This record gives sequence, C-alpha cells and structure tokens, in this order.
Amino acid sequence: MKQQQIRLRERPDGWPSEETFSYEEVEVKEPTQDEVTLKTRYLSVDPYMRGRMNDTKSYVEPFQIGEPLNGGIVAEVTKTKSEKLKVGDIVSGALNWQEYNTVPADTVRKLDLHGAPMSTALGVLGMPGLTAYFGMYHIGEPKEGETVVVSGAAGAVGSIAGQLAKRKGAHVVGIVGSKEKADYIRSIGFDEAIDYKEKHVGQALEQACPNGIDVYFENVGGEISDQVWPLLNSFARVPVCGAISSYNLEQGEEDIGRRVQGYLVKARVKMQGFLVGDFQSHYKEAYADLSRYLQNDELQFEETIHEGFDKVPEAFLGLFKGKNIGKQLVKVEK
Ligand code: NDP
Repeated sequence: MKQQQIRLRERPDGWPSEETFSYEEVEVKEPTQDEVTLKTRYLSVDPYMRGRMNDTKSYVEPFQIGEPLNGGIVAEVTKTKSEKLKVGDIVSGALNWQEYNTVPADTVRKLDLHGAPMSTALGVLGMPGLTAYFGMYHIGEPKEGETVVVSGAAGAVGSIAGQLAKRKGAHVVGIVGSKEKADYIRSIGFDEAIDYKEKHVGQALEQACPNGIDVYFENVGGEISDQVWPLLNSFARVPVCGAISSYNLEQGEEDIGRRVQGYLVKARVKMQGFLVGDFQSHYKEAYADLSRYLQNDELQFEETIHEGFDKVPEAFLGLFKGKNIGKQLVKVEK
C-alpha cells in the first residue's frame, strides 16, 4: 500500500515556507515480530521543529534534507505483530510525518486519557501541558498574591502555564498578539491581557502589574521580553521556556536587545532555561495532576485543528504568524 510522507526539502534561511517541505509517495512497511503499523490520526506541529530544520548543534538532532520530518503523533494500531498492542489501540509517540508508521511496539505509549479526547495527548495532556507544569511549578513557583506574567499566553504552553499560576492564587497577566486571544485568555481566568500588537508592552505591563513582576514565564524573547526585565521584583523567577521571536532569524542576523545582567543582579533574579525532558522522573505526577484538573473542570484548553494531511505545512507555518489559539494540530483524515 502507498502513502504520503513529508520530507525536509531544503533548510530555510530565515522564514520557512511551503518550499521547505516536499510530499513523497512511499510504501507502508509491513510489521515484523514485535512491530505495529500505526495510522496517524493527529499530528502535532511545534515551534521547536523550526530549530531542527537548521544544521546546528542543539539538544535534538537536526532534521536531514530529503529525510522525513518527525514529531508528536497520535495514531491507531491497524496491524500488530506485538503482544503489547492490539488493533484499534490508540498510542502516541515521536513518529515520522507520514500517514502510517511501522515501528517497534515498545517505542510508542498506549494512551490512557481517562475519557479526554485523544488529541489532548499532544496538548494539555502531552508535551505542552507538561512543559507548562514544570516551568511554572518547578521553576517559577508562584505564590499567593504574587504577580505572574506569561508571554505567548494564548498558545499551547502559555494558556496552561497561566492557569496553573492562577491555581496558586497569583495575579496573572498574559501577553498575546490579538484581541481575540486577549478575550480568550481572560475567559480562561487570566486577570489581565495585553495585546502587544496594539499597546506599548512596557506601559501596559506597568499598569497591569502595579506591584512589579515576581514570575515571568518566557515563551517569546525579543522586544516583548525586553519590557519585562525592568519590572522584575527582588527574587523574581524567570523560567525560560522558549524564544519564538528569534527562531526565524537569517544566518548571521543577531538577536540584540536590552542586556539582562544588570536587572538580574539588582533584583537577584533566578533565570533558568529548561527542557520538558529534564523532568522525566516527574512525568507521572504531572500527568496525574493535569488529568485531575481537567476532569474536575479546573483547567481549560483550546485546540486549533487543520484537517487533512496536505495542511501540515500551513499549520506549521501558522505558528510563527500567530494563527493558532491553544494547541495547533492537524487531524489527518478530513
Ligand atoms: P504556541 O501554541 O504558543 O504557538 C506559537 C505562538 O507564538 C503563536 O501563536 C504566536 O502567538 C506566538 N508568536 C509567534 N511569533 C512570535 C513573535 N515573533 N513574537 C511574539 N510571539 C510570537 O506554541 P507552544 O505553546 O507550543 O510553544 C510556546 C513556546 O514554548 C515556544 O517558544 C516553544 O519553543 C517553547 N517550548 C519549549 C519547550 C521546552 O521544553 N523548553 C517545550 C514546548 C515548547 P501571538 O499571536 O500571541 O503572537
């Protein structure tokens, strides 16, 4: 049987485009002993994948030109040669961007979502949800009455991070790129929303954070974050989750802004970059907590879903143009 596969056609220098990707027709491999064939149901597009398109050393291997792209996928078992999984089981894993994957059964995780939709395994109950949880609770550590600012606040990670801070009784301010997103984050419990395309972020933050900022959950970097540094309180914490504003710089272009050291020293700020994978030994408790909050209706989530395998590039490119609210996914079957 034939299927479609998406490969890296060329490394983007600066902004990626449809030209970055190529669609190829390839055979679906038959499973051998202990393998399963998986039909892709939901495919996750994530900002970190942009970094893997560069030929630079990082915490994950770069994608190779002419090779399939790969990322978080929820899939259904359609054939099995494994005792661990049966036909119809729903699993998630890091799989190639193709309609079917044939892999060893022990390289994917059978989902147990306590009734939540399977797509949540790529969002609130998956990597983005865990990222929000560890960044906010293990590094940010907000306390009752403190002020927490989240950038990229209407996205997959930011929307959850803000709600987790609210659970601790913090005053939570989100920075987003549209009025629709500002309305959305207010609707899920953020106290204030700043649309950075409409307002001067520094002035808006001064108004929204009259007591200064105790935790800044950093998703975007760049000029937005430059406005945060002067407002950090003594002993503030800054979990640095990502810096999406710099992901599409051209070769040789530098990400220059306010130098941060003076602010950190003056306010004795703890700024810590982190990767969700650093917290693997705590995944179980985080899944349990996030699932419980969802079941109790104490945590809201949103998904932007493109339908059709042909929509994967458009969904990916949209992340850098702010097209998504909540988790951006592709539902492969229309
Ligand atoms: P999102 O769902 O937040 O999607 C990306 C959003 O970023 C867009 O919707 C857009 O929202 C905003 N954005 C895009 N370009 C810019 C820009 N130039 N300046 C400001 N905002 C911009 O993605 P995720 O929630 O998946 O990821 C959020 C961040 O977390 C990323 O930096 C990502 O790399 C990082 N991350 C880190 C992990 C880790 O382990 N450290 C794991 C997962 C994610 P808007 O319209 O508001 O601008």
